[in-house]
Amino acid sequence: MNQTLAIIKPDATGAGRAGKIIAHLEEKGFKVRAMRMTRLDQRQAEAFYAVHRERPFFDSLVSFMTSGPVIPMVLEKDGAVAAFREAIGATNPEEAAEGTVRKLWAESIERNAVHGSDSDENARQEIGFFFSDQDLLSI
Ligand code: ATP
Ligand code: MG
Repeated sequence: MNQTLAIIKPDATGAGRAGKIIAHLEEKGFKVRAMRMTRLDQRQAEAFYAVHRERPFFDSLVSFMTSGPVIPMVLEKDGAVAAFREAIGATNPEEAAEGTVRKLWAESIERNAVHGSDSDENARQEIGFFFSDQDLLSI
């Protein structure tokens, strides 16, 4: 599986960092195969992060993810899931490695600029959450 689902989160779109983040990812060798800008409603955000429903930060996370536009993207690269997780860095930007997206542009552990799928199975499911097969384009 050479694809992953990325989302530029509302902190980054709101601060005008989307272009910088996409440019950074292209420079790291990720190819954009699909992309759009949308705003999640509460039901969609709760469904997308359903795995975290019991976590103490769930309501705050849903509120944050519905607070402004998001940019879901299908990114392609060899070993895309692991490569993208490496490129974005740890969930908490204070623990993220130098040069990673979250180190460079995240505001906090919640407002952390980007989402990345954590397994091939979840990548397939998350890609299907936002895109259909016809949305996937090759340059
Ligand atoms: P993502 O799934 O968004 O790529 P992740 O896999 O690095 O991030 P998860 O554990 O899946 O981290 O958490 C999902 C999201 O929930 C995080 O990206 C962050 O926005 C938020 N989050 C996670 N842990 C906390 C926390 N302790 N406090 C506040 N928000 C948190
Ligand atoms: Mg996660």
